[in-house]
Amino acid sequence: MRSVPGLLSVFLIAAGAACAELPPDLPPASPLPFAPGPVIGGTVKGDPAAGIVPVRDLIEANRKDEYIPIAEPIPGETNLHAPAQPAVAPLVIPSTAFSSVPVPQHETRVAILGYHDFSRTLPATEMRMNTDVFRSQMRALKASGVPVISMKEFLEWKLGDRQLPAKCVMITIDDGWKSVYTDAYPILKEAGFPFTIFPYTKFITGRGSAMSPAQIQEMLDNGATLGSHSVSHLYPRSWRAAQRKGAQAVQELATAEIGHSRKILQEKFLGSSVEAYCYPGGFILPEMISRAEEAGFQAAFTVIPKKVTKDTDRWRIHRYMVFGKDPKTFTRAVNFNVPSTPETPAATPGGGSGKKLNSYPAPAQPVYPAANTVVKNQTPDISISLAGEPSLDPRQMEMRISGFGLVNARYDAKEKILKWTPSRPLRLSPVTVQVRWKNPAVNMWQTATWQFGIEEQEMHFTPRNIVK
Ligand SMILES: [Zn+2]
Repeated sequence: MRSVPGLLSVFLIAAGAACAELPPDLPPASPLPFAPGPVIGGTVKGDPAAGIVPVRDLIEANRKDEYIPIAEPIPGETNLHAPAQPAVAPLVIPSTAFSSVPVPQHETRVAILGYHDFSRTLPATEMRMNTDVFRSQMRALKASGVPVISMKEFLEWKLGDRQLPAKCVMITIDDGWKSVYTDAYPILKEAGFPFTIFPYTKFITGRGSAMSPAQIQEMLDNGATLGSHSVSHLYPRSWRAAQRKGAQAVQELATAEIGHSRKILQEKFLGSSVEAYCYPGGFILPEMISRAEEAGFQAAFTVIPKKVTKDTDRWRIHRYMVFGKDPKTFTRAVNFNVPSTPETPAATPGGGSGKKLNSYPAPAQPVYPAANTVVKNQTPDISISLAGEPSLDPRQMEMRISGFGLVNARYDAKEKILKWTPSRPLRLSPVTVQVRWKNPAVNMWQTATWQFGIEEQEMHFTPRNIVK
């Protein structure tokens, strides 16, 4: 039989992986510009003024961009005319953008970073960040001068009258891994950054890879804030099982997991007010929100990667989860060089089957899945028929999918269909598709944008074969 810490580790890694499974949302897409020149995946190739694109570059760009992990820039957060980024961008955050001068509350945007585990020696995974990489991220933050705020400052701004600078960063760390104390804490202390830890109470044991109460207390005494990440970090399937038993079972589970977690933490760590809750895996049910509120939490945090504004729902506060294997998530999080978009109903994991569709009218071209419909399949063929287009150049067409970015769609010249099948399940509903193609006859780019939903019960992350 496996030791308890061993089993716990397996569970934790699986749980952590669940956190990581969520692709980023695509904000209601700003239409891609009708191009002055060819624009491929954020990089201007060839001679835009002359409309010349080396075919090899096109193919290469498409191949390179296939199956881009979750940090692919998305329309609205991308300067399409920016110079090409090296594969691993050096960690320099432009400092010109940051000021410590407070602004009116509605002008502030906060990027909240979410981390999990750290290691100097073990290979990086989505959930495990190399300690040296983390250090370079924190040093880059420090050098940029971006204000890094505490949970207290954040909540006083979000819920109260406090004013903050226009662009701020907040740091959170989930689960309660021992490496938070051994690896991240010294780096955060050196930088002088406040941070919030979201442990789940059953994991505060000090055994194996778990932090001890004394380690947590030491960090709390030195500028950290304590939030709750529930009692036992349940999977969505546990909540679903409770739902099948009835409303009372869900409420009881919410009380046990959310309400009790706050009491346990307040008793274990005297003097901690424990005002923030963090949904395990980013999974939210309405009962969780009402129970969090009743329990006295002030706000709750998700894993939807967007900037937080004064208008953001306090029970669905966005965070950028920074993945050990993908430094671009960090770069994207701290990129404020994008216009502020009004708060819109966010696509939320488990939050409903395509309820928020109809943001776009159906395009004129036949598309699949049809615009504003809900499908059950998580890996549907996504296609558009361009048969009605008078003039097409197969090398000058592209498809973007929320959570995937530019994808390597195949064009069937006979049927005039541009098609792509997701390489991993679509999990964030609704899915936004943008297709662009050039009409060479008039040298103009055309676009079609549509959305479809993924049925809710099909959306939940299932832990994959995770072996320790
Ligand atoms: Zn977690």
